[in-house]
Amino acid sequence: MKLKKLIRKPTSTNKNTKIAINLHNHTVLSDGKYSPEQIIEEAIRCGLTHVGISDHYATLKISAIPHDELKAYIKHIHSLAERYNDKIKVLTGVEIDSCKERTDFSKIDFGLLGNLDYVLFEYVQDDLWRGMPLWELLEMRKDIDCLVGLAHNDIGKNFAGVGMEALIRVLRIDDVFVELCTSIRYSKFSKPYYHYCPNFFDKLKESRVMISIGTDTHDRLEDVSNISDAVKFIRRLKLENNLISKLF
Ligand SMILES: [Zn+2]
Repeated sequence: MKLKKLIRKPTSTNKNTKIAINLHNHTVLSDGKYSPEQIIEEAIRCGLTHVGISDHYATLKISAIPHDELKAYIKHIHSLAERYNDKIKVLTGVEIDSCKERTDFSKIDFGLLGNLDYVLFEYVQDDLWRGMPLWELLEMRKDIDCLVGLAHNDIGKNFAGVGMEALIRVLRIDDVFVELCTSIRYSKFSKPYYHYCPNFFDKLKESRVMISIGTDTHDRLEDVSNISDAVKFIRRLKLENNLISKLF
């Protein structure tokens, strides 16, 4: 794995660093309601520094980017990144369902994924959603030459039998980031999942495991800026230096 994107020297962040990123947004190119341009312009209007377009890819259960359109998708989002370059950092991503019944992994062009900034995997180690176990993702990760992250993972539940230090170690070694997803769909008692594994996030600040923020925007434009709970959480646990945005 070359991970050329990580060779860029990360800038250090501190408590004064502005936290205004959202790397989980769907558009009309998969099952979202708004165009990539509308999502980006909303992000600019709300003062975000980084916005990621992360449409579903290769997932059978919902409208997703088909295999033969991935190249065109990447080209399109890259062109938008250039167009909006002076206003916001636009990142190119996709989201892949880790369940093998809903995603045909044999058809994925892993080489092409390397042209993305990041790939989000949903339902990893989630038995209820029949997601793939983490070890399988880590095997697959070796063939993906860009950042790879766990989307809206209920870490406290899915990794309940695993020591948090051991989990952090493998995420660091295999270079997998963790998303703090603020969506109500990935919450319990109105609190996002990340509130239910303080042990994990508390230990994270000593490690180099990266974190991102995502809102899983689909049909509400106001979700693009729905990051304040995650920002407060990051500030409270002093995780500013783990933010993925420092790589871009
Ligand atoms: Zn999503």
